[in-house]
Amino acid sequence: MKIICIGRNYAEHAKELNNDVPESPVFFLKPDTALLRDGAPFYLPDFSQEVHHEVELVLRISRTGKAVEKAFARRYYDAVGIGIDFTARDLQRECKKKGLPWEVAKAFDGSAPIGGFLPLNELPDPILFRLDINGRTVQQGSTDDLIFPFDELIAYVSRFITLRTGDLLFTGTPAGVGPVQRGDRLQAYLGDRLLLDFEVK
Ligand code: ZN
Repeated sequence: MKIICIGRNYAEHAKELNNDVPESPVFFLKPDTALLRDGAPFYLPDFSQEVHHEVELVLRISRTGKAVEKAFARRYYDAVGIGIDFTARDLQRECKKKGLPWEVAKAFDGSAPIGGFLPLNELPDPILFRLDINGRTVQQGSTDDLIFPFDELIAYVSRFITLRTGDLLFTGTPAGVGPVQRGDRLQAYLGDRLLLDFEVK
């Protein structure tokens, strides 16, 4: 399986990192070794001094799709969950400066914790989600604020990359990203349902 991540999909977050709001979605990949499941702890890597949390809604791809039309995109995912796109912000800054790819900053082991998923028919519209660290809310998002809604993302990404059952699509983070520290407890909610809960070590 593969993990596809969307960058800059909330205007307020693009602004906080001094990025322009994009005209088409920006995406990058993480390998399957980035996954962390079942509340497993996240170990801070030794190559970064500044690992940031980015809470994101995650689509679970449920069938093979190539060049999917937007009107049919809903058929290609069957559940929405929540995950963290951990980012070594210090390394990413270097990559951006030098025009290099982002993998060292984004694709490292354990950089994609995911929690439970809710089937589409159980989802409210809009979907509200948030991340709490040590009991304090640090990021909140709503699908109303997406620059590119889910179905547009499916259509866009599948022009370039075939989607397969079991792939995951991280849909971008709202404003409020920031560093995590050893000992932090991260809890991510979809609506009022706690779907992801783990510690930083
Ligand atoms: Zn992200």
